[in-house]
Amino acid sequence: MVDNIIIIGGGIVGASFAYHAKINQINKIFLFSDALPGDSQQATTNTWGWVNGYAHNDKEYATLRLASLNYWAELFNNIQTPSFTSKGAFFWDLDDPEIHQTIKQHQSWGHSVEIKNKVNLEHALPNLLNVPDNAGYGKNDLAVEATQITKKLLKLSQAQIIQKKVDKLLMEENEVKGVLVEDQIHYADEVILASGLGTPDLLKTININFSMKSTLGLLAYTNELPPLLRHPITGIDFHARQDNQGRLIIGGRFDDDASKDSKIEEAAKKLVSDMASRLNYKGVIRLDHFTLGNRPLPNDGRPKIGRVKNSTGDIIKGAYIAVMHSGITNAPIVGKFGIEEILTGESNSFLHSFTPQLTNE
Ligand SMILES: Cc1cc2nc3c(=O)[nH]c(=O)nc-3n(C[C@H](O)[C@H](O)[C@H](O)COP(=O)(O)OP(=O)(O)OC[C@H]3O[C@@H](n4cnc5c(N)ncnc54)[C@H](O)[C@@H]3O)c2cc1C
Repeated sequence: MVDNIIIIGGGIVGASFAYHAKINQINKIFLFSDALPGDSQQATTNTWGWVNGYAHNDKEYATLRLASLNYWAELFNNIQTPSFTSKGAFFWDLDDPEIHQTIKQHQSWGHSVEIKNKVNLEHALPNLLNVPDNAGYGKNDLAVEATQITKKLLKLSQAQIIQKKVDKLLMEENEVKGVLVEDQIHYADEVILASGLGTPDLLKTININFSMKSTLGLLAYTNELPPLLRHPITGIDFHARQDNQGRLIIGGRFDDDASKDSKIEEAAKKLVSDMASRLNYKGVIRLDHFTLGNRPLPNDGRPKIGRVKNSTGDIIKGAYIAVMHSGITNAPIVGKFGIEEILTGESNSFLHSFTPQLTNE
């Protein structure tokens, strides 16, 4: 029986596990996290907040994302507030045939996506100068404020939050029994590693070699503005949306790596001035601040969710990992299904193909 769990990580993934543990009647939830929502070290704090179902040529991943996208609506209903900031998003960062191919592929997988033409775009984005001829449109895509939602999930979970670093996992006879924090042992029935880029170091303490990569994402925040963009947009070399305070949040290409920029503030100012030049707005648009976040990327780009194996191929009991990029999109359903897997011991078909397979990933 699982009565007492430890979650390592207080980003959106850990918060979703904590919330779903609570609604599944687990009452002893301890969450250790060295950074909390709002702290600059968290990916969740530094995210753009686009929830979408796209996974090119990867039907299993697109299916998981779609399930999460659909579940977000239910989650908002259950947690009441804060809700999503906008619904529906456009992209045109591919060439025309690729936009059509992406939309067609996702339509064939049951997603509510379509092509929008110039006239549609001019109507939906009236303040944007120079709209493209065609764009892909996700009807149910959302923009969410991840830090606020993560705080809310943590609050509702009633987890005991301890802002400390976990130094080690404690393993006895192929079962993780707890964690070591500042020389103190804490036991649990299950330890959930929602620890983002901290996961490889934690797994190393039980001799599991799990490697990840990361790129540095720069986002520029502007001053508060009147409504200018009703939907998130992703153009050739930029993406932008307006948050629930009216600030534009602007990034470059999705695969940008800001560590290549030696003058980060200059790069952020350029994101803002380039975006201002795309908008029909006469007022002042200026850089308010910028964020720099490390994307937690498993090596093959797909989420890693479930139990890991030891060097002889046996499943290690008592530990469950959940690490991913696109964690804003995925966290709700992964937390729900993950807790259900832990409680029932049954494998969930949506998560099956994301089980970490190798001991030396
Ligand atoms: C610039 C940028 C833009 C993005 N845009 C999007 C987007 O539009 N849509 C989308 O779906 N995703 C997006 N992502 C990805 C998304 O933000 C992440 O996948 C998600 O936030 C990961 O959440 P997490 O809880 O796993 O990790 P984090 O938020 O990083 O939380 C992990 C936590 O674990 C803690 N931790 C780690 N090791 C230990 C330890 N040993 N002891 C104690 N605590 C520990 C850390 O302190 C941290 O608080 C973006 C990311 C970036 C950086």
